[in-house]
Amino acid sequence: MRGFIHSIQTLGTVDGPGVRFVVFFQGCNLRCSCCHNPDTWDMHGGKETETGEMIDKLIRYKSYFGKDGGITLSGGEPLLQADFAREIFEESHKHGINTCLDTSGSILDGKVKELLKHTDRVLLDIKYTTDEMYRKYVGCSLERPMEFLSYLDNCGIPTTLRQVIIPSLNDTVENMAALSGIIKKHHCIDKTELLPFRKLCLPKYQNLGIEFPFEDMETPSADDIKRLYDML
Ligand code: SF4
Repeated sequence: MRGFIHSIQTLGTVDGPGVRFVVFFQGCNLRCSCCHNPDTWDMHGGKETETGEMIDKLIRYKSYFGKDGGITLSGGEPLLQADFAREIFEESHKHGINTCLDTSGSILDGKVKELLKHTDRVLLDIKYTTDEMYRKYVGCSLERPMEFLSYLDNCGIPTTLRQVIIPSLNDTVENMAALSGIIKKHHCIDKTELLPFRKLCLPKYQNLGIEFPFEDMETPSADDIKRLYDML
């Protein structure tokens, strides 16, 4: 099978457990105002790649993965090419390689459910906890990732809940209380990551000639993030 990818990071350490071979898929159905990968949005902007070619490359790095590492599919949105992603995960499992999916959880159809059968862990980005903010700053309803999360819970797929902390938008007591409620309700969530919003992506927006809606937002300090973890 062939699919479109943006790039590969061969020895990633922040997208899932251990050392990981991270494949950034091309194409995204959302337009988050905080997005740090706007260069992945356009479905036609990527490099066409074949599963076998990718697996050949992946297994060259297997010795670095140890007991926790493996492959992570990120993006962009891997769910837009769910068949391609499924084949990559199936082949990875044949080689004993752990699979992890980094997603916004905004699509849940038959193809995505097939992909999830071959997924060892999901990194689910819950960007806000109100529907109003989801519609305004993401481009879909909060219901979509919530349905996705319920499905993960029913299937018992280990899930890392991730949220990018954007001062003045979601660094609030109310948001942490809502996030805590979501965590308590879904037993599949065994890890939560609060990630500071950063603006390293600004040159990407400038190169693409598009506005970065959160250009004036502040980056939270390490102390701010710690305070929110304590609150959670
Ligand atoms: S889902 Fe991810 S890649 Fe897509 S716009 Fe949002 S942050 Fe960017």
